[in-house]
Amino acid sequence: MPSYDCSKCPGYCCSYHIIPVTKRDLARLAKHFGLSLAKAKAKFVVKNDEEDNKDGEYKMRRKADEYFGRICRFFDTEERRCTVYKARPHICRAYPTGRCGYYDFLKNERETQDDPELVALTWNK
Ligand code: SF4
Ligand code: SF4
Repeated sequence: MPSYDCSKCPGYCCSYHIIPVTKRDLARLAKHFGLSLAKAKAKFVVKNDEEDNKDGEYKMRRKADEYFGRICRFFDTEERRCTVYKARPHICRAYPTGRCGYYDFLKNERETQDDPELVALTWNK
């Protein structure tokens, strides 16, 4: 059984600055929404200009978020969950491996501060 529970987490991993998207990921998302590849590309991603972009030549567009500043465009900022779980990119499927360090941090802060709903941050909002 995993040592983390994404359903109780505010979505740290979805707030990464770069969420790489491959052509295959984009095709999956396009199919999921019944869009052409060109339309999905324009709506969902921008070019990944990082030198090391081996995980994807595109990166996910992001949107404003109350806690993290910016977050993946497919993240539901009210329910705090992914809205395209079945069609999510490979990188989201691959993470985490074993433990989730973010969840360990969250669990520890919630226990320490005796607040099961706390959205633990490393800075003051
Ligand atoms: S940070 Fe960890 S626990 Fe939170 S949603 Fe991502 S994988 Fe799940
Ligand atoms: S596609 Fe889903 S799991 Fe991946 S970063 Fe976006 S909201 Fe998170």
